[in-house]
Amino acid sequence: MVIWIMADTPSKAAAEVDAVIVGAGFAGLYMLHRLRGLGFSARVFEAATGVGGTWYWNRYPGARCDVESLEYSYTFSEELDREWRWTERYASQPEILRYLNHVADRFDLRRDIQFETTVTAAVFAEAQNVWNVETSRGERVQAKFCIMATGCLSSAKKPDFKGLEDFAGKWYQTSHWPHEGVDFSGQRVAVIGTGSSAIQAIPIIAEQAAHLFVFQRTPNYSVPARNGPITPEVMDDWNLNRARYRQRARASAFPILSIDMADRSALATPPEERERAYEERWQRGGVCLAGAFSDLIVNQEANDTAAEFVRAKIRETARDPAVAEKLAPKDYPFGTKRLCVDTGYYATFNRENVSLIDLRCTPIEAVTPQGLRTSDASFELDSIVFATGFDAMTGALTKIDIRGNGGVALKEKWSSGPRTFLGIMTAGFPNLFTITGPGSPSVLSNMVVAIEQHADWIASCLTYLRERQLVKIEATEQAENEWVAHVNEVANATLYPRANSWYVGANVPGKPRVFMPYIGGFGSYSEKCDEVAEKGYAGFALSAHR
Ligand code: FAD
Ligand code: NAP
Repeated sequence: MVIWIMADTPSKAAAEVDAVIVGAGFAGLYMLHRLRGLGFSARVFEAATGVGGTWYWNRYPGARCDVESLEYSYTFSEELDREWRWTERYASQPEILRYLNHVADRFDLRRDIQFETTVTAAVFAEAQNVWNVETSRGERVQAKFCIMATGCLSSAKKPDFKGLEDFAGKWYQTSHWPHEGVDFSGQRVAVIGTGSSAIQAIPIIAEQAAHLFVFQRTPNYSVPARNGPITPEVMDDWNLNRARYRQRARASAFPILSIDMADRSALATPPEERERAYEERWQRGGVCLAGAFSDLIVNQEANDTAAEFVRAKIRETARDPAVAEKLAPKDYPFGTKRLCVDTGYYATFNRENVSLIDLRCTPIEAVTPQGLRTSDASFELDSIVFATGFDAMTGALTKIDIRGNGGVALKEKWSSGPRTFLGIMTAGFPNLFTITGPGSPSVLSNMVVAIEQHADWIASCLTYLRERQLVKIEATEQAENEWVAHVNEVANATLYPRANSWYVGANVPGKPRVFMPYIGGFGSYSEKCDEVAEKGYAGFALSAHR
């Protein structure tokens, strides 16, 4: 007889909940809402004191989204969508956090979320077919399904600079910013790193600090946001067309409408016309520069035209030619690291109180009690801001002691790089789901769209199992091997793997170099997920027995 664990005989372990969800950011909140709506019981564990995930932790000055707010929102509830009013083209961190708190309240989500609780272990008990989930509070919860909504960019790299423990000033991480904010007025401040976080924070810190030293290892391509209030015309158009726009985004390769992907080749376009196209998009602002031509990401020569356009803009903006040369990226293709979106970044280096230190020429040797020492100078500092990034995509998962069939640790299984089928499940770990896991479009898309697609797929899958009294689902090795090969194949057809980015794990010493997100296109990926489900979860082993 086929039975659910919950309906099992009392002598056997009964699961306490249908699902444990780890994380209460965009993903965890929506997953909880979906499961509840379908009559599943769920419990969410969240390390923070509140909801919001990324937008709870990253409170640094200038933090805001780089996908336009109207798009960077949930779509599952038309009422929510209509009642929430974004004020700016790119909402600031406080506004996005308010939105996520509003969502938690509006859908009464908090009663199933336990805050200040880190999940430390999740061990699959094969005999009982349950996940034993352990927390930092010493609790143990049994769940039929374990859903990791732990985030792609939530495991911050710890600053590991020699001497930091003896620094007499204060130091901060953009990824764990103090809730009360920081006033840098009158201070000598260092920012280490020049990724998206630093590029947003630097212009604002520069306005406060007595002097700001920016320590750059790799320059980034950055485009102007041209942020501002959302005009009534834009809002009216959005209100009239939002369903159609959203449908179009979901079907496209990059589900960000504002990229406005062109279908013509840069190389086939006459140079003057090409420059006009770049200029028009530069003036429009935001990530649309990356969508100017269809061959930018697959053809080095085409890419060079966009890279050179940005370098020319940097040279035009930064007045000191030596500084401009340092700021201009030259050794990796345009767009193969996440494109940064800024407000006044390059112009900040024209300020008298800002200095750029090129760590390629003069590496950091140590943090000293008074500041920081590079190979050729010492800097006296009151504060250091580390904007040094994340152990992306896998870090939050491998931090947890996750063990599947035979007690095998996920960390061990992924020691040469993550392996998944569709980025949703990994073979040998039944009933464990990863929202926006490695091998899915995730960070190459509008994350909210990617999150909703995964949570919907998982919710449908659990319903399918329940309706058929199935108790176990697991990705097959074969499906996983084929998917991993496909993920690599499509990545290798692009220029992406040429950059030392966090997409390939290059920012974490010792991390295997594997292109982790799926770049085959969101629309076709989503179709593939639907097709797998329609075929009775082809590529997954389903079972009615433990
Ligand atoms: P997160 O928001 O990262 O939430 C995961 C949660 O899980 C966290 O709260 C964490 O505390 C919790 N957690 C993790 N491990 C555990 C554990 N073991 N136990 C308990 N709790 C745990 N994407 C875009 O598409 N557009 C943008 O404009 C954009 N801007 C960004 C700006 C910044 C500064 C950063 C860092 C990322 C940005 N991203 C952006 C990516 C962003 O992470 C996603 O858009 C989205 O917020 C991810 O939501 P999530 O719920 O999947 O993960
Ligand atoms: P990041 O892009 O990984 O940037 C980290 C920076 O720190 C890089 O410049 C890196 O240099 C430098 N760095 C790391 N370790 C260093 C060391 N030991 N010494 C010197 N420099 C070091 O991290 P992030 O800026 O936090 O952004 C991560 C991602 O989050 C983004 O790509 C984006 O997806 C998202 N994000 C989005 C926004 C937004 O605009 N909405 C804002 C912030 C973040 P190298 O390049 O040489 O490694």
